[in-house]
Amino acid sequence: MRCSLWVLALTTIACASHAAPPSTVLPPASATRLAAGARAQPHFGGVDYTFTLDAGITHIATRACLHGAAPPALVAGDADSARYMSGARLLTPTGSRALAVKNGVIDLRAAPNDACLAYEVDMVAATNGDRWWLGARSGPSVIASIVLFLWRPHVAAGELHGTARFVLPQDMQLSVAWPKEGDSYLLDPSAFQFDGHVVFGRFDALQVQAPSALLEVAVLQGMPAQTRPWIVSWLQAASSAVGAQIGRFPVPHAQIIIVPVFRPGMHFGFGDTGRSGGVSIAFFMPADVSEQALRDDWVAVHEFCHLTLPYVDRNDAWLSEGMATYLQEVARARAGLISAQAAWQSIYDGSQYGREAIDTLAAETRNMPVLHNYKRVYWGGAILMLSADVELRRRTQGKVSLFDVLAQLSAEPKEILRYYRAVDLLARMDAIAGVPVFSETAARYLNAPKFPDLDELYPALGLVPEGAGLRVLAQAPLAWARDAIMARGPVATSVALAGGG
Ligand SMILES: [Zn+2]
Repeated sequence: MRCSLWVLALTTIACASHAAPPSTVLPPASATRLAAGARAQPHFGGVDYTFTLDAGITHIATRACLHGAAPPALVAGDADSARYMSGARLLTPTGSRALAVKNGVIDLRAAPNDACLAYEVDMVAATNGDRWWLGARSGPSVIASIVLFLWRPHVAAGELHGTARFVLPQDMQLSVAWPKEGDSYLLDPSAFQFDGHVVFGRFDALQVQAPSALLEVAVLQGMPAQTRPWIVSWLQAASSAVGAQIGRFPVPHAQIIIVPVFRPGMHFGFGDTGRSGGVSIAFFMPADVSEQALRDDWVAVHEFCHLTLPYVDRNDAWLSEGMATYLQEVARARAGLISAQAAWQSIYDGSQYGREAIDTLAAETRNMPVLHNYKRVYWGGAILMLSADVELRRRTQGKVSLFDVLAQLSAEPKEILRYYRAVDLLARMDAIAGVPVFSETAARYLNAPKFPDLDELYPALGLVPEGAGLRVLAQAPLAWARDAIMARGPVATSVALAGGG
């Protein structure tokens, strides 16, 4: 039943970068009022969670022990997840006392220092609800969003930190991206600031070595056994293609979840990247996927390309999605997975979606949740990124490319787990590049009445539309940049480490 909901999403969404940005995780106004004047000494010093699951994964029983002064409230990760929490109570030496809950806020104003509290999350209701991304059952497993069960202290984002322990029935497996120390997982501010995925249940655990990185893969039951080596090869090819462009995979560790979707004839085209305390990517894959379909796939490269940038506000998704869409073509061509001609053709074909635009790229991006104009936004952003890449190469006489900027941007792994508005990230990229091509290109295209197109750029690159194809001219002002962008380079290698489970 859940699969039909996934399919519903699959028909409209090519890819989602799944995260709860600060703008959406800010608590409701009532919590903001609670915060005023409610801070006291000693300061809030973190929170230790214990999540206990039953064999049927019907509930997550949570115990949260606060260090130091209690924050004024514990707040839901988002409005939808608040519906599935109940039983909030303060644990006292003699028992427990119910805590007031309103609009996704557990009131802790009367809680003492070093308080412990408890609450339950109804996993049956959550996985039967109409929010497929919050929780879904897949065979003996549940894939759930972190925001479904991680209610967080209402304190400044920088003060959010803690640990998490899971108490699981015997034989139940767990997949989560949070770093582990001893028997606890460490929660940094990003664990609370963004969303991510967790899997409880039974699954095949694989490890794939990407360039300078380890991919921990959970293949949920329902994917036929013969797909295992195909999935490993697919992840190796995609991670190597992306890693080769910046010298390493963008992050040292990533959690990968393969979720089977049962719908004959369905095309594979959906991934969901989370950043709660670490990188997690869920791929919703047809259970009848073929080896060839995985060889031809672009989704894994696209999701991995997202990791070259920090989290970008969804109102600025033209940047994050445009970057991933542009790079998915360039990285595959440079790695030899597709030809340069095919990559230029895809970008040209993608640009044609802009002809249906009814507004500027900035406005179309803001309205994406309503208009479902994903292709226009993704490819409009991709043209913007191509334009910036060409301009960067032109102004630096070919000495600096977009990949050089991205390599430096992601040199500090934690950077990927930070939040940016586009204006700030573009300024950062300008500073790395040494020329303000990113801000200038955005200023030129973003609010222009004419949607970004290739009418001027492609002829300058020596790419001429001809019928349904493209003619590549040897002589053109920027032919050198064209050839440099798609030039084949050394491909970083990745190998499978282990399999089983
Ligand atoms: Zn994407």
